[in-house]
Amino acid sequence: MFNTLTLRKIANFSFAAILGGSIAVGTLLLLLLRDYEQIIADQQLSKSAYEALFVLKYDTERLLTTSDLEKQTHTLIQSKEEFNKRFAVLTPSIGDKKEWFQFRNIVLSELEKIEILLKDENFSKQNMMEKSLLRRLGEGLNANENSVYYIKIRDLNNNIAYLKQYEDFLLDELYTFQFNNTSQADKHIAEAKLMIIWVIAITFLLLIVLAYIVSRTIKKAENNLLGIQVNLRIALAELEEKQKILVSQRDILEYSAHYDSLTDIPNRLHFVEKLTQLIGRHKDTSEPFAVWFIDLDRFKEINDSFGHSIGDRVLQEVAIRLNEAIGKESIARFGGDEFAIIVENAQNFHDTEVIIKRFLKMLSDPLMIDSYEIFITCSAGASFFPKDAHNAEELLRNADSAMYQAKAEGKNTYKFYTQEMTQRVYERLTLENSLRKALSHDELILYYQPQVDMSRGEIIGFEALIRWNNPEIGLISPLKFIPIAEETGLIIEIGEWILEEACRQMMQWRSQGLNPGYIAVNISAKQLIHGNLEKVVPALLKQYRCNPDWIELELTESIIMNNPEYSKNILTQLSESGLKLAIDDFGTGYSSLAYLKNLPINKLKIDKSFVDNLPYNQADGEIVKSIIHLCKGLQLKIVAEGIETEAQGKFLLQEGCPIAQGYYYFRPLLASQIPALLDSPWGGNKGEKSEEKEKPYD
Ligand code: C2E
Ligand code: MG
Ligand code: MG
Repeated sequence: MFNTLTLRKIANFSFAAILGGSIAVGTLLLLLLRDYEQIIADQQLSKSAYEALFVLKYDTERLLTTSDLEKQTHTLIQSKEEFNKRFAVLTPSIGDKKEWFQFRNIVLSELEKIEILLKDENFSKQNMMEKSLLRRLGEGLNANENSVYYIKIRDLNNNIAYLKQYEDFLLDELYTFQFNNTSQADKHIAEAKLMIIWVIAITFLLLIVLAYIVSRTIKKAENNLLGIQVNLRIALAELEEKQKILVSQRDILEYSAHYDSLTDIPNRLHFVEKLTQLIGRHKDTSEPFAVWFIDLDRFKEINDSFGHSIGDRVLQEVAIRLNEAIGKESIARFGGDEFAIIVENAQNFHDTEVIIKRFLKMLSDPLMIDSYEIFITCSAGASFFPKDAHNAEELLRNADSAMYQAKAEGKNTYKFYTQEMTQRVYERLTLENSLRKALSHDELILYYQPQVDMSRGEIIGFEALIRWNNPEIGLISPLKFIPIAEETGLIIEIGEWILEEACRQMMQWRSQGLNPGYIAVNISAKQLIHGNLEKVVPALLKQYRCNPDWIELELTESIIMNNPEYSKNILTQLSESGLKLAIDDFGTGYSSLAYLKNLPINKLKIDKSFVDNLPYNQADGEIVKSIIHLCKGLQLKIVAEGIETEAQGKFLLQEGCPIAQGYYYFRPLLASQIPALLDSPWGGNKGEKSEEKEKPYD
């Protein structure tokens, strides 16, 4: 109802009203008091005049009874003067009371008359001696004294009586005046009192009203304050809530900044921070600890074969096992399929080896994801503080190099860092740099490894295998530089060169009247996707007038399954151009047989790993037999790779795989060695056998 502004207005108004009222009432009171004072003063004067008149009257009466008339006359004159003086003082207050002056004048004139009479000789000292006027009057009446004397006394008596009468009139007037004055003063006092009472009452009322308003306003203000307090409390609670949310968001952010969202274990950032702290703590004591860098083997194939959601589940499962084996705070996922471990208190290789072995053992149990049973292995590398490095970055880099070495040595193993590994990495970098010049410097060479029909003892075709003849290092294996070429993208250019060289070589041999059958050319993953093969290959065939039958393309299962739909599209186009397609290293990658069935494949090459232990390893034997059986069912040609012994060849021949490629028959040969070979019995007797070779797929 009221706000503080209204309250202030009301208070100001009330104070102004009280002040104004007080001033007005004060003025009125002052006026009243001034009148009152005047009345009191007038009353004093009239009282004084009254008293003087009263004395005068007394002295007048005493004239009648005194025996010393002379003295009394003197007293009377004094009283008259006194009265006259006092009446004169009173005169200004009398106003227009004419009667008073009349009475006074009569009194004064009577007094004068009496004075004159008293000066009469009859009232000489002698005569007047010891006799009052009344006595003389009585005596005179009784003794019938001298009549003049008697008349004089009687006159005097009459005059005195007359004077007394007027003195009484005047006394009455003065008394009335006094009485009126008193009542008027009382009236003034009463009015003043009433006024004061009114003022007090009104002030009191105003104060009550003001107090009421103030209390209401205070109440209202209190309510407002309470409301504000409540609002403040709500706002405070909201603020606290928001703060909590912010804190939790910060915690979440902090968590997501330091933890991997997929596996819920620490991420690289967290790991590196922890590692840096650990190094800080161990700096002074130089107490050793180890860092493991782990990379899953062939994870890309899992992703490509089963899809990314299964791939994610595999990573989660690996993280769970890692956590169980080591503990959450000592492990991390670095992204992709890379993980890392810190092994504190690792005094020697053995201490840390125990840890990684425990994890590898746990990982060896197949992962059951949905209906899939997935086998996974990993490669790991360790580096030690302070032996191998003094900072986190270097420790990790060295552990990574060791892991890389483990990969290079066949995967599913672990390695400890050595300085030579850094040397190898350095070499690899150097290799990468010189590979860029290899093509323009004519340092690449194709070797040709014959594929033989064991039943006829005859070469039916060749696989082109690249070598890099580095002027400083010598002959470098494709296993070493093809991955680098893949990573750097140089493979596209190199791949085209290989295809062209194969076509050129084929046509050269053919022009020499030789029949080398076909040349199989290896195609890399990047080449299949980015090499524009469906155009490049037909163009080359056309350019060299090379029969498409004479060129075969080899692709691994993994390469195809990297991008199945796209691969199928390109392979179909290549197949439609008349080219033959072979699956290389069959059995080592993840592939869907159902999918393979839909591809325009002509040949499978059984991987060397299945051949290695033939004929003694029963399992490998069974696998090989199955593959042969499968090829027959799907009407695919079949080649066995890596035949190194006669027994292996016999087993394969016996099981229905007569085509072989291996050191037992021929190592990869220089192009210059081939014409002589084709001229040998391995080249076949001209005629029927060359025809056979010309139609290797029929
Ligand atoms: P791949 O295509 O499976 O080639 C067969 C590899 O097995 C060749 O190794 C060959 O020399 C080797 N080999 C053949 N018979 C035997 C044997 O009896 N015992 C042993 N131990 N090895 C045998 P190479 O030439 O070192 O090639 C290795 C891999 O490098 C090839 O495997 C292929 O994947 C790749 N490669 C080779 N040349 C090329 C190429 O021109 N282009 C592409 N993209 N990759 C190539
Ligand atoms: Mg091959
Ligand atoms: Mg192979």
